[in-house]
Amino acid sequence: MVPAPPARPAPPGPAAGLPEPGPLVIRGGYVLTMDPQAGDLPAADVHIDGGRIAAVGPELAVPAGTPELSADGMIVAPGLVDTHWHMWNTLLRSMSADRRGPGYFKVMIGAGRAYAPEDIYASTRLACAEAVSSGITTVHDWCHNVRGPGYAEAGVRALAESGLRARFSYGVAAGHPNDQTMDLDGLAGLHRDWGAWSGGGRLSLGMAWRGPGGSNPAVRVPAAIYRKEIEAARALGLPVTVHACGPLTAQGQIAALAAGGLLGPDLQVVHANCATGDEVAALADAGTQVSISPHSELLIGYGLPRTAEFLAAGIGVGLSVDSTVLTGNADMFSIMRVTQGIVNAQAHEEFAMTHRQALALATIEGARSLGMAGVTGSITPGKRADIICVATGGPNLGVLTDPAHLLVTAAQPANVDTVIAGGRVLKRGGALTAFDLPQVREDARRALAGVLARAASA
Ligand SMILES: [Zn+2]
Repeated sequence: MVPAPPARPAPPGPAAGLPEPGPLVIRGGYVLTMDPQAGDLPAADVHIDGGRIAAVGPELAVPAGTPELSADGMIVAPGLVDTHWHMWNTLLRSMSADRRGPGYFKVMIGAGRAYAPEDIYASTRLACAEAVSSGITTVHDWCHNVRGPGYAEAGVRALAESGLRARFSYGVAAGHPNDQTMDLDGLAGLHRDWGAWSGGGRLSLGMAWRGPGGSNPAVRVPAAIYRKEIEAARALGLPVTVHACGPLTAQGQIAALAAGGLLGPDLQVVHANCATGDEVAALADAGTQVSISPHSELLIGYGLPRTAEFLAAGIGVGLSVDSTVLTGNADMFSIMRVTQGIVNAQAHEEFAMTHRQALALATIEGARSLGMAGVTGSITPGKRADIICVATGGPNLGVLTDPAHLLVTAAQPANVDTVIAGGRVLKRGGALTAFDLPQVREDARRALAGVLARAASA
């Protein structure tokens, strides 16, 4: 039995126990602004004040007493942007079996049914710690295990307490019956109270929608139900995200959305590996964004991501972790590398995608695809201070050649020295500063043991 959820919990405060976003100047790094106006600035400073980027340039004059952080020998870049991540199932890391039978969907849904709200919290908290550690400062938490009151709030609380910038997309419960509408009242209630949950505006709310298919290719949802759901989200003005056309068995889902008049710039389609040419054109015409998750798409057998085709059609593309049940970790450096490699392989051409283009997908283009390019994704004065400093002293780096090339092909999460989100220092000197990692780990292990015990006795 899953313990009864508590009454709807109170929201955390806007700061949620986080360090204050104090003034700071990052000195002397190689700054990859990813802002086309500013370009690259070797040996430059970044001045942060009030959670925002105040100035970027060499030898900046800052008010006396401003704390300094030396980035000598480091690459300073925008914080990395994830665009689709089921953070609630990080507890089940690397549990999808490699034999026929209990594959990803059965493992995820089977264990997901046994989750209590505190398991969502423990899992999301571990995922947030991994995000920060890996240099990811923006996440799109795709929560398709909202099982009742308190579940979504548990995920949102973990996001708020992490310091990350995030969209929380509210979905069905894992294993939710196809002929039943998702909990639209719960979504509307959270939307109504969102001001108290948003971490002072750092978090935004969306709908994780099943659409005609759902995350499981075996799922088929009646049109009357999926239409009612997306219309409810749009009536609230919420952005919507949907898995579509990942596996071959899901062919036609984007065509169904197009025929129903449901595509639009407020919709993000995840995967789209098996989209037809007409479907790609329909996505482009509607201004719909695509999130690709190359590691999960490869491992589950969806085929190769279609990144180059989407970009050529003018579709906004973001990169994503998807689920560490399948992919193991949330290494965005590796996600950039495999994305670029697949594009070049498909083109039989070494220069089809540049390293800088791959880095843009994980920064400014990812932010743009989430509608957040005005606040994050580049080191631009006025934007929120979401910044990483990557040390080049490790044995897998050691030299400072082309910085964008290094970030895409050589860097690893362990090289991320400093992570700043909204002006808050969340990692420094390679150590997490706003997480009690032993506690996060212990809570995750205890939560997993409870989930597995309840799932086994169900
Ligand atoms: Zn997914």
